[in-house]
Amino acid sequence: MGKPTGFMEYTREVPADRAPLERVKDWDEFHLHMVDDDLRTQGARCMDCGIPFCHSGVLISGMASGCPINNLIPEWNDLVYRNLWRQALDRLLKTNNFPEFTGRVCPAPCEGSCTLSSFDPAVTIKNIEVSIIERGFDEGWVAAAVPAQRTGKKVAVVGSGPAGLSAAAQLNKAGHLVTVFERADLPGGLLMYGIPNMKLDKRKVLLRRIKLMEEEGITFQCNCEVGGSGISVAQLRSDFDAVVVTVGATKPRDLPIEGRSLAGIHYAMEFLTANTKALLHEGSDYITAAGKDVIIIGGGDTGTDCVGTSLRHGCASVTQLEIMPRSPEGRSDDNPWPEWPKVNKVDYGQEEAAARFGADPRVYVTTATSFEGDGAGNVAAVHTVEVAWSKNDNGAYVPTPIPGTAQRRPAQLVLLAMGFLGPEQPLVEAFGIETDARSNIKADFGTYSTTVPGVFAAGDCRRGQSLVVWAFNEGRGAARECDRYLMGNSELP
Ligand SMILES: Cc1cc2nc3c(=O)[nH]c(=O)nc-3n(C[C@H](O)[C@H](O)[C@H](O)COP(=O)(O)OP(=O)(O)OC[C@H]3O[C@@H](n4cnc5c(N)ncnc54)[C@H](O)[C@@H]3O)c2cc1C
Ligand code: SF4
Repeated sequence: MGKPTGFMEYTREVPADRAPLERVKDWDEFHLHMVDDDLRTQGARCMDCGIPFCHSGVLISGMASGCPINNLIPEWNDLVYRNLWRQALDRLLKTNNFPEFTGRVCPAPCEGSCTLSSFDPAVTIKNIEVSIIERGFDEGWVAAAVPAQRTGKKVAVVGSGPAGLSAAAQLNKAGHLVTVFERADLPGGLLMYGIPNMKLDKRKVLLRRIKLMEEEGITFQCNCEVGGSGISVAQLRSDFDAVVVTVGATKPRDLPIEGRSLAGIHYAMEFLTANTKALLHEGSDYITAAGKDVIIIGGGDTGTDCVGTSLRHGCASVTQLEIMPRSPEGRSDDNPWPEWPKVNKVDYGQEEAAARFGADPRVYVTTATSFEGDGAGNVAAVHTVEVAWSKNDNGAYVPTPIPGTAQRRPAQLVLLAMGFLGPEQPLVEAFGIETDARSNIKADFGTYSTTVPGVFAAGDCRRGQSLVVWAFNEGRGAARECDRYLMGNSELP
């Protein structure tokens, strides 16, 4: 612990984001970076707790408390305070293959469980993390590490999202020859075609890492759908000694109400993917929100990304419908530290909408009942109703429409952002692997073995829709188990 009194002397500070009305004019990242001296002061706030809850990564009440990849947070906080950046980077890379991604997009369960946050604002762990890795890139400390020896074993990774990338990086480190198959034109999964550019820059940050991985010996085969037009599952099984399936949970939840087939109603991912493609490939078609009243159904992070994207297009208005009640401003009595804080979060999209239109775009305890057309096949409005939540006879909370609350809301673009329902089944069937009751791939957490020997599964396709940091945890774990399967034992963490 660098400075025992640091937490009493200094207050939490993060760099100010770019101003909302400025940043909606472009697609550049909105977070700014902090100067080293200020970061050192923030590192000095860490108390080097006897039990550092920040790096525990356990589930409490079903939510992650602490870092799911067990980052050695107190150690690198101290090293940053002592100006030992190179050593801080070495510590960070012990547990995290890609801190430049988590340092930008992770919701930071570490900060929610930081001991300091039980009586003062948490240590700025996420900001210190991204600063360490960016300093590493700036100094040239992050370079391709080609394995000294190859095992002669070949592994196929199917899907190049965060689970696939971390599995590939670890398997390559163990000396296996890794090929990553990706059906999209560029690697990254939802890091590429989900999370928008203003949160994670595709060229400057994501493709910088992919280039390094290629230099380390990993092959990326894009535009190649496994079990589809790219390569058959049988061919894959015969060409490779083992397979790690990391295909994500890509089946979107639909809203099959009256008027669903009208033009102008899209899944959020259609909107977000086409938008990023258009940024990367000039002339590529996208769904524009320019001049439209946009209604987003779903109040989560995907919905927020739709808000930010619609604003950058120049929408006329934006509303985000959320069926759940608004979370409290502070922790409630049944949500104590170190649990994940279930509190109201004003994310970047809501901040931008408030700056542009004067109010938070979220409308709570409200759901859509039907879509109205304009007579020419296009959506013109969404009919909504407010709901009340109460327990039914089985003890489950269910929403009931409140009479007299029906409303007609004009909309020329509707985006469905209500979550995902597991992996697409044809590929799962082609592998002959079993699924669980939620249609995710059946494989235990920790072993990642599917019901077919030599085939492992990790990330959202196994766990269900989750977070980048959990995909990293699972990709690393599946790599370790795959290595053990191939070699009889494994030294991978
Ligand atoms: C819009 C959006 C925003 C999000 N924002 C955040 C955030 O800010 N922070 C956060 O922590 N989490 C966020 N998440 C969640 C996070 O992105 C996911 O939990 C994570 O990406 C899951 O990783 P994965 O590798 O399991 O799957 P994915 O990232 O979904 O990657 C799966 C890949 O497999 C490919 N694939 C599928 N089938 C095949 C096939 N047959 N052949 C070849 N390739 C195939 C897909 O094209 C895809 O590239 C967000 C999710 C969405 C949808
Ligand atoms: S819980 Fe917070 S104060 Fe304690 S070691 Fe972790 S970052 Fe430092």
